[in-house]
Order: sequence, then C-alpha cells, then structure tokens
Amino acid sequence: MSYQADVVIVGAGVVGLAIASEVAREGREVYLLEKNETFGQEQSSRNSEVIHAGIYYERDSLKAKLCLEGGSLLYQLCEKNGIAYRKCGKIIVATNDVEAEELEKLYRRGRDNGVPLKMLSRREMGQLEPNMRGVAAFLSPTTGIVDSYALMRYFLGKARGNGAQIAYKTKVIGIEKVLGGYEVIVEDLSGGFSFMTRVLINCAGLYSDQVAEMAGINIDEANYKLHWCKGEYYSVSGGKNKLINRLLYPVPVGTISVGVHICFDVNWRMRLGPLFYYVNEISYQVDDSRKEAFLESSIMKAVPFIEPSDLEPETSGIMAKRLGAEGGFLDFIIRHEHDHGLPGFINLVGMESPALTSSPAIARYISHLLDEILES
Ligand SMILES: Cc1cc2nc3c(=O)[nH]c(=O)nc-3n(C[C@H](O)[C@H](O)[C@H](O)COP(=O)(O)OP(=O)(O)OC[C@H]3O[C@@H](n4cnc5c(N)ncnc54)[C@H](O)[C@@H]3O)c2cc1C
Repeated sequence: MSYQADVVIVGAGVVGLAIASEVAREGREVYLLEKNETFGQEQSSRNSEVIHAGIYYERDSLKAKLCLEGGSLLYQLCEKNGIAYRKCGKIIVATNDVEAEELEKLYRRGRDNGVPLKMLSRREMGQLEPNMRGVAAFLSPTTGIVDSYALMRYFLGKARGNGAQIAYKTKVIGIEKVLGGYEVIVEDLSGGFSFMTRVLINCAGLYSDQVAEMAGINIDEANYKLHWCKGEYYSVSGGKNKLINRLLYPVPVGTISVGVHICFDVNWRMRLGPLFYYVNEISYQVDDSRKEAFLESSIMKAVPFIEPSDLEPETSGIMAKRLGAEGGFLDFIIRHEHDHGLPGFINLVGMESPALTSSPAIARYISHLLDEILES
C-alpha cells in the first residue's frame, strides 16, 4: 500500500460523477473508480430520463428535498452548459373514479412538498391534450426530460477539469479500516493493488449494499439490503408521438413504482414503460412476453390511439431498491458512517428514482459533509 488519496468515490454513475465534479479541487486528490469500461453503463443510462418535480415522496424526506432542489439545479446547468433538455411538463391522469380519489391525494402530497401543480378542468384537459382520455387530471409544469448521457459527460468533464482522476475497469473488491482512513483493495487489468484514502464514498448503485458490507456494515441490521427491480420499455411507433404534447403518467397503484407511463426522450421519441418486476440477476434482455401486462396498464386507457401493433419491446433498466416492512419503499440513504465506527466512510445506498433528477443536489449535500469530515 503506497499511494494516499484524500477522497475515493466508488462508481461512475450519475451520482458518483456529480459528486466528483463538485468535490474535486486543487490540492485535493480525488479518485473515481469504475468497474466497467466507461461511465454510466448501469442505472444511469437505462431510465426514463425524467426530471421529476418531487410529487411522490414523503414530506421532508431526502427524496423530496433533493428532488426539488436537484430538478431546479439541473434546469440551470442544462441551460448554461448546452445539455439537451425539455421542460415539457407532465400530466397525471385518472381513468376512473377510484383513481380520481387517489389523484386528489397525490395532488395534495405534491403541493405539501412545495411542487407547483394545477388541477385541470375537463375543458383544460381537452385543450392541453385533445387525444387523452380520463376523468380527472393535474398538470405538473416543472417536470421535464434531460439527455442523461450528455449530463454525465458534463459532470465527467467538470470533474476532470477540477483535477479528479477516473480509473475504469477498476473494481473495488475489499475495504479495510486503517489508521487515518481506509485501505481500498481493487482488481484491474494488471491484477490488483491497494491504496489508502482518508475518505471513501460509496456510489456503487446496484452493488452499493455489497460495498457497504465490504467495509463491515451489517446490511441486514442496517436495512441497506438492495432488491433489483427490472423495468421494461416498449417503443411506440406509427407517428403516435405527435398526438401527445407532454409526459403522461397514471395514478400510481401500489408502491413498486410511479407506474407505466408515456415518456419521451429529448428528440421526442416515444416509449411506454417501465413495467417493473423483481429479478435476481442482471440481464437487460427484453422480449414480448409481458405485452399483455403493458396493454392492461392504466395509462393505456388514457391513450386509446395507441394500437397493440404500435408497440415493440425495446430496452430495460434495473433499479436498486430498499424495501420497507410492508414492501413499501424507503428514503435514500446518504450517511456518514461514523456511528458505525467508520469515520470518513459515506454511504449512498438505495439511490433509486429520483436520483438522476437529484444528482446535482446530492453532490452539494456530499460536498458539505466532506468539508466537515476533512476539516475535523
Ligand atoms: C427503469 C428506470 C427508470 C428510471 N427513471 C428515472 C427517471 O425518470 N428520473 C430519475 O430521476 N431517476 C430515474 N431512475 C433512477 C436513476 O436512473 C438512478 O437513481 C440513478 O441513475 C442512480 O445513479 P447511481 O450513480 O447511483 O447508480 P449507477 O448508475 O448504477 O452507477 C453505479 C456505478 O457503480 C459501479 N460499481 C458498482 N460496484 C462497483 C465496484 N465494486 N467497484 C467499482 N465500481 C462499481 C457500477 O459499475 C456503476 O457504473 C430510473 C431507474 C430505472 C432503472
């Protein structure tokens, strides 16, 4: 063990990249270690690319706070740095009376979180989305979409510009607490080596529970265990993207996700998804076997102009979720683990949606935490 770093970040997804871009500076040795050949190959490049407004999350939770702050920072940095985005807005639509009651509750939750929302009259629904069907709906004008690859490239450039070093094909396989920091053991093309860092930041996405465990945290007791949840998308062809002007979401049923929705990328390519289900292994393959479930999803009732023949299985992403006692989802874990006997070790676990949206705010949050640790 010969080399000494100030900060090591594990994982070059959007969260690790955003953090590296924020914490790197002259006189600070910052390293970003990534097991894949390049950045952003996992959750961060396989998602809906939605800049969420902050509607769904419990009041005062990290998800609510960081999503609201992150969304607004994201729009500013996209505008300033030429990253493609669209502040297109979204409509959440109820297609029956039972959903309409839930819609009302969701509207109040969003408003309580400080999200600007507008309940729509039937006439306004028809004006905004003449081809949409539904019994009630509200508009979220601050929801949008971002080119997630361009965003990550921006964070990477800024991190490098500020002096961070990035090592690809470098997998963290062990962490030892040593005097004054951590010995990080890595596997790379040369075989492997280890080095010392004062601060270690775990942004390992789907594997962040495993990285926490490497440092000696009991992930069952701490409730850090992650469950992999695969979300499949269908492409929608036939020029149907011209019939809708904004993102369209259903009223969420259950807790697994915000529901199969109509999403667009910045070039207005239309997709339907993600349809989520739990998996034990990583495979991004998609086939036609879940088409019936897509056709029966609530949002399809709102877009009767989409025919089954317009749909083609397209892509998928896998999300890292923590589960609550009743199967409900929990908040992000963003924690300095000094009370687990691990000063200088920061965990980011369960960084599911809306972590893409929240990434610039998460980076600021970590930067403050890091300053406190390095100054103490
Ligand atoms: C289907 C789907 C739809 C989504 N839609 C949205 C959305 O619309 N809006 C939104 O805000 N969020 C959305 N999300 C969530 C968002 O994509 C994630 O929250 C975000 O990308 C998490 O970023 P990350 O950097 O934490 O994780 P990741 O992108 O998974 O990055 C983690 C990185 O760590 C690396 N790594 C892991 N273990 C090691 C190791 N031992 N050594 C070195 N490197 C390691 C991995 O290779 C990976 O590159 C969605 C997610 C999914 C799956």
